[in-house]
Amino acid sequence: MPYVATVESMRFRRRVSHGVAVIALCLGWIAAPPRCAAFQAVATPPTAQPAPANPRALYQALNGLRPDASRVYSIHELNLRRDVISLKLTEGRIAFFEPLKGHVTGVVFTGRGHILATPHDRGERRSLAEFLGVPILDQSFTRAYFRFTDDTASEVEQQLRAEGDEPSSDPAFAENWGRAVAVLNPWHSLRIMFDFLSENPLPYFYAGIVSESVGAFDVLIDGRRNEQVLIGQPRVENGSVLYNVWASFQAGNAPASPIQMFAPLDYRVDTTIAADLSLEGKTALHLKALRSGERIIPLELSHNLAVEQIQSAGGEPLLYFQNEDLSRRDILRRGNDSVFVVLPEQSQVDEEFHLEVTYRGSVISDAGNGVEFVGDRGTWYAHVGGTDHFVPFDLNFRWPKRFALVATGNKVESRDEGDTKTGRWRSSVPFAVAGFNLGEYKMETASSGQMKIQLYANRQLEDAILERLRDNVLVLAPPTVLPPLDGTTGGILPPPPPMPSPSDLLRHLGSQVLDSIHFFEKLNGPFPFDHLDVSQIPGSFGQGWPGLVYLSTYAFLPPDAQARAGLEERGQEETRELMPFHEVAHQWWGNVVVSATYRDSWIQEAMANYLSLLYDDSKKPSEHRMETWLRRFRDQLTVTAPGAAETAEQAGPMSLGFRLASSKIPGAYETVVYGKGTWVIHMLREMLRDPSSADPDARFRDLLHSVLTENRFRALSTEDFERAVEQRMTPAMDLEGTHRMNWFFEQWVRETGIPRYKVEFQVKPRGSEFQVTGKLVQRNVEGIFTASVPLYAAHTGGKPERLGNVATTGSETRFHFTTRVRPTRILIDPHLTLLCRTD
Ligand SMILES: [Zn+2]
Repeated sequence: MPYVATVESMRFRRRVSHGVAVIALCLGWIAAPPRCAAFQAVATPPTAQPAPANPRALYQALNGLRPDASRVYSIHELNLRRDVISLKLTEGRIAFFEPLKGHVTGVVFTGRGHILATPHDRGERRSLAEFLGVPILDQSFTRAYFRFTDDTASEVEQQLRAEGDEPSSDPAFAENWGRAVAVLNPWHSLRIMFDFLSENPLPYFYAGIVSESVGAFDVLIDGRRNEQVLIGQPRVENGSVLYNVWASFQAGNAPASPIQMFAPLDYRVDTTIAADLSLEGKTALHLKALRSGERIIPLELSHNLAVEQIQSAGGEPLLYFQNEDLSRRDILRRGNDSVFVVLPEQSQVDEEFHLEVTYRGSVISDAGNGVEFVGDRGTWYAHVGGTDHFVPFDLNFRWPKRFALVATGNKVESRDEGDTKTGRWRSSVPFAVAGFNLGEYKMETASSGQMKIQLYANRQLEDAILERLRDNVLVLAPPTVLPPLDGTTGGILPPPPPMPSPSDLLRHLGSQVLDSIHFFEKLNGPFPFDHLDVSQIPGSFGQGWPGLVYLSTYAFLPPDAQARAGLEERGQEETRELMPFHEVAHQWWGNVVVSATYRDSWIQEAMANYLSLLYDDSKKPSEHRMETWLRRFRDQLTVTAPGAAETAEQAGPMSLGFRLASSKIPGAYETVVYGKGTWVIHMLREMLRDPSSADPDARFRDLLHSVLTENRFRALSTEDFERAVEQRMTPAMDLEGTHRMNWFFEQWVRETGIPRYKVEFQVKPRGSEFQVTGKLVQRNVEGIFTASVPLYAAHTGGKPERLGNVATTGSETRFHFTTRVRPTRILIDPHLTLLCRTD
């Protein structure tokens, strides 16, 4: 993680990678150069291989498959249809792969082809349009690489037979594809092996397509994914590779609930950290099979930790893949933090079993000056992917005595043994994840009532910040006497300001965190864990674990030191006002309830951000912090960056989650999920508010409290949240008259668009009152967009008077009010209850 001090890149990162299910995808394979013609002439056609029984040999055989030079066909009009995708191979040549275990798993094509796809889902068509300019996939192509475990081969054969096409031998064609196939195969071998070894295979179909207009892209239909259909492309932007998901959706024949193979029941993790910070670990996983007939268990573990052994409960070593070939995935989003364990026998549904994974490597790095950094924060132990499994954790650590170690759970044992310390932490409630941190910490305790928190900060600053502080001493403290022009050091410098120590601020931060917990308890219900540990991490982000919060070093620095360390003013405010409390709010939103899918992750981030803002606002009521931040977020959402074709908000709706971080506007994820998300929660609160009540926020509080209670230690979907809002909605919120909040969630969560309003009006006196008639003009959104827009009458006699709300029904909505004052102007939503702009 680079140290970044700009506002745009200040991130409250939280397990963004989880729930991201990008599979092995092709990158740059078209660059594989064809072999020279002379060489092709002597190439021997490959022959069919017998099927190996050993999974490793099977895997290697899958990698080694090549197009069969003796089965090359010249084709005309070959058609394949998979879900909403139509592939037409108009003319050219194809070659079948050599069969393995009696199955042909691949075909390559060179010639003229066309692909057409129209997703049913409007949001996915919109996403295609974002990347391709049109809401359908409609591309001609010249080369295609197909891999599959479905019946593609026999379907193609049937069409060839019907046309009377005969195979011919064409070693040059097969050889021409050889290099690309060698590069591409390993990305599919494990997935194909899943089905080869399973009694209940789930169809897999992949097409790597090379189009002259858009380059190489992927088309995937995989029965093992929650959203089976994926269309997308990796792109390099500023030196880093981002995967652009053009569309991802469920196939028409998708099962009602997602396919799950294995679920964890509990984890025991033993970790030894050596003096050189290398890590040796063993995770004992207690698992349950959710499906019969499976032989491969996919696990996640950092690629920086090499698996040494995986064994079953009976102590027999199990075959696994933590393969070199997978490392190419590392350049894509999720990296190759995957381990695939092969069971000796096929699973039976509900069967429970134990695995022990032993590994060794390095996930902790030295940030300098005695500050350590635990990288790979979610993958330091072997676990089943996804964060929606809440289970007990038993963590054991051994570590060098000079460090203090903090971990999720309750510390139930600790001992000193010479130069090392040992400790054991157990979860008292189920956790979705576990984490730890270590450093040469100074510790402070703060407590009030039942709540106890411990804060751990480094005595010293990490090198990166220290250097910046040193560099900036001269800039910020100009010499009182100018140095001589000849460059010799003749000036008299004032003494440099003292280097701050993060631990100096501990006490202050501790009381703030404690105070915020009490504030959040009023909204969310009791603090969900036995205690909270707050620990410093190098860098510029924070992260919230069950009962443990990581905070950036910046959060531990006084404002002047933050400035000297290069943090811009807004970054300072963000670090001071939001970050610590955002992470504390994640104790509930993210650790009591988690996101059901990537499309729901906005709820956790939006809630954490909004609650941190509410807290900040409550501390400084006269400073209008809420208003300041809401305006900032709105500006960020509606500004078009220089050179950009659209705003971050237009890049896509919040429901796209991580997909917003595409090469189009890489910062869109942050801007939309945090900024727009904050506004969405704010608008809900405003709508639920009852200003006439002694407790205006009672409904909002009830919403938060009950969502957390009813979904405690479970995954929360946007639909669950929507239903909870509907249970508390007021008549004024029922804009469609259906007792549903569909209109709100469609517009603000599943669609893009921020309306712009203008008002035109006339005033006529009537008796002692005035009749105000006019129209509210709505722009920048679709005609069906609806909102309840508050209008206020500004007049010469004092504070603006509320006229009422206008529920828009298209681009122009007429209104009619009676008022006792003569309006000089009509103000549109002066109290910022609606995300909109006004003329
Ligand atoms: Zn967050």
